[in-house]
Amino acid sequence: METRLIKISTENPEADLVEEAARVLREGGLVAFPTETVYGLGGNGLDSEACKKIYSAKGRPSDNPLILHISQISELRPIVREIPPKAQKLMDAFWPGPLTMIFPKSDIVPLTTTGGLDTVAVRFPSHPVAIAIIRASGLPIAGPSANSSGKPSPTRASHVAFDLSGKIDMIVDGGAAEWGLESTIVDVSGEIPIILRPGAITKEMMEAVVDEVLIDPAILSKPSDDLRPKAPGMKYTHYSPAAKVTLVKGDSNAVIRKINQLCASDSAQGKKTGVMATEETKEFYQADVVLSLGKRESPEEIGANLFKFLRKFDFLGVDMVYSEVFPEVGEGLAIMNRLNKAAGYSRIDAE
Ligand code: AMP
Ligand code: MG
Repeated sequence: METRLIKISTENPEADLVEEAARVLREGGLVAFPTETVYGLGGNGLDSEACKKIYSAKGRPSDNPLILHISQISELRPIVREIPPKAQKLMDAFWPGPLTMIFPKSDIVPLTTTGGLDTVAVRFPSHPVAIAIIRASGLPIAGPSANSSGKPSPTRASHVAFDLSGKIDMIVDGGAAEWGLESTIVDVSGEIPIILRPGAITKEMMEAVVDEVLIDPAILSKPSDDLRPKAPGMKYTHYSPAAKVTLVKGDSNAVIRKINQLCASDSAQGKKTGVMATEETKEFYQADVVLSLGKRESPEEIGANLFKFLRKFDFLGVDMVYSEVFPEVGEGLAIMNRLNKAAGYSRIDAE
């Protein structure tokens, strides 16, 4: 299959290009488009065949459900059985935006979309291109991240092309995804909302609206048989570049010393080394490639660069990547969740 690449204006998406993408979706095809989190791989979320194509293009396990994307609140009602009061409050506060909520599904949503579950994940993105394409299609659009399953999520059209060229109908290039990490997922079906995947909308932000929010304990450590994440997708290895990623924890000087030792020993064995540093530390590392994620006090910057850098290390043929770690609070929780997964939970204490 030939994949068409079209460039679109981010602020004022051209109506004819939007309509072309929407037509592909209505005809059962697949279109990758930008959202404010990462690029999504869109298909008709009410069409089992289109959803099967999504699983197949991504190489995604079929028990890993898809998120349905809508472009206005009125599109929610037909796909869910009920809207719990707390969901309504969260929706009022954070939609459109990087928050996905889990609802009991209505009959029109196929089990192929939900990986066999009786619930459906729904998000109303805020990106003008995503909103325009979904609205023009007239459909709820299943939109998982537009990467090959297991690889870092794509934050640029070029990342999508690298993974999925030849496997999907169209890629709509609307520039860089601003936030760079996937949406927060919250289960609102019980009395107290539970975060199933941390993201830009933090526990603290939601608690300001609905009092109490819990975090699925399985996402704070390595998933195991005793501790299975409630979001099926969270149990899989994710975000893994070809390089081996190791996190190094400790006070700043100890981390720099430890990483430099590790890089020296890797280099002696002929390995190419990389470091994910910060603005404060970047000049102190001796490695083949040193990339600064941003300032330590700027989680937005760090989040936006993380997946891009994991891909860049691969592109540069780096074998061993060492990364600093960040406090697991606020948006730092999402950053550390993705970093831990990228590293397969491999972590060294630098004391
Ligand atoms: P992605 O679309 O690649 O961002 O991944 C979607 C994530 O949402 C995966 O971790 C899924 O397991 C999770 N998800 C989607 N639908 C549901 C659902 N009904 N219940 C729980 N988790 C879900
Ligand atoms: Mg994904």
